[in-house]
Amino acid sequence: MFENVLGQKITETLARDVSRNTLPNSLLFYGPKFSAKFTSALELSRLLSCEKTGTWGCSCPSCRIHEQLLSPNLIVAGHRSCIPEIAAARSTFLRDVSVVSDEDKFFITRLLYIRAIRKLLMRFSPVLWDGSDKISKINPLLASISEAMEEFSASDIEQLRKVGEKLTAGIFNDCQKLEDSFLPESIPIFQIRNIRTWASLTSSVNKKTVILENADKMNDNSRNALLKLLEEPGESTVLILLTEKRQNIIPTILSRLRSFQFVKRPDSIQKSVIQQVFRDDSEKFASLQDFFDEFLSLPRDEIFRVASEIGEWAFYGGSYPDSDEIFRRLNKFEPKGIFKMLLAEIQKSAVPLNFERLSPERQALFFRLPSILNDCNEQVVIYNRSPLSVLELLLHQLSLKA
Ligand SMILES: [Zn+2]
Repeated sequence: MFENVLGQKITETLARDVSRNTLPNSLLFYGPKFSAKFTSALELSRLLSCEKTGTWGCSCPSCRIHEQLLSPNLIVAGHRSCIPEIAAARSTFLRDVSVVSDEDKFFITRLLYIRAIRKLLMRFSPVLWDGSDKISKINPLLASISEAMEEFSASDIEQLRKVGEKLTAGIFNDCQKLEDSFLPESIPIFQIRNIRTWASLTSSVNKKTVILENADKMNDNSRNALLKLLEEPGESTVLILLTEKRQNIIPTILSRLRSFQFVKRPDSIQKSVIQQVFRDDSEKFASLQDFFDEFLSLPRDEIFRVASEIGEWAFYGGSYPDSDEIFRRLNKFEPKGIFKMLLAEIQKSAVPLNFERLSPERQALFFRLPSILNDCNEQVVIYNRSPLSVLELLLHQLSLKA
């Protein structure tokens, strides 16, 4: 069990609970980014609905469908930046398809790519979006991706050597549009309600799983709906909440969950993941963050530069930054993760030299900065405001007449 999760001891506890049948129905996996919370939740979902004993590589019908991330017993909601992983898996696939002659290896690398895409597509399941007026805009994109995916899956290695590059580029663009325009940053109430309906339907003998990623990011209405779901979950449904910030889960929700702590994995383990999963032996990446940054739509240095310029202006003055120019320099905040990275970098770079020489207003601004940045982040993450308008708001808040 959990053979695909490297260097995360808590999975032993999970495996024990599964074997002894002592796993409660509501769980919280918490820990930093890249600590395998989502991978473990997916694997747990496979184990719970396995028709045999859940061994690794099990070929029962349920496990086979889980491997493709197509199980009707699994619902995934919540935000995740899927694009870097899709880009990384695409790059692995394109590299491998040009050199691999062995069919088995070809299937592994193809599955890696398909799973990366489905990790995004799962968040657009009709179960979640039922009744939403956005469906009519989302459906054409989904249709375009699924058509290309069908062609991809039906092609053999020879065909993919010829058309793989173009085919996967088209899929990539559609996925980027889907994530950036339609994947909500926080879980909307209508999705929680749809999940409740789904959970209450008794279907198969197998357990159903709901994974809520970034579960701390919800507005009050969604939280209340989630509480109801936790109070009366369907009999055969396991709910797994994932978060990087356990402290942001409200106590009434927390008290209904069994918590499992995922720790930051040492660099050596992260390097093994890069080698074993993405088969990159270059050793040029110190961590998974470094590795995925390689696939960002612009270099991290540029985000860093813009952040320092904003910081310098805020504390030392100068001409008012041009938000349109920042917007353009930072790839129009596509993917939106770029905006979140910008906020984090502003906080990091804002350590004024000669603090005591700053005017009292600027000193006060320095102490207010974390809450201003946090507010801006929430505007985008919880209230789905556009990053450009929040950037303008941020600049306005930072502008002081010295
Ligand atoms: Zn199985």
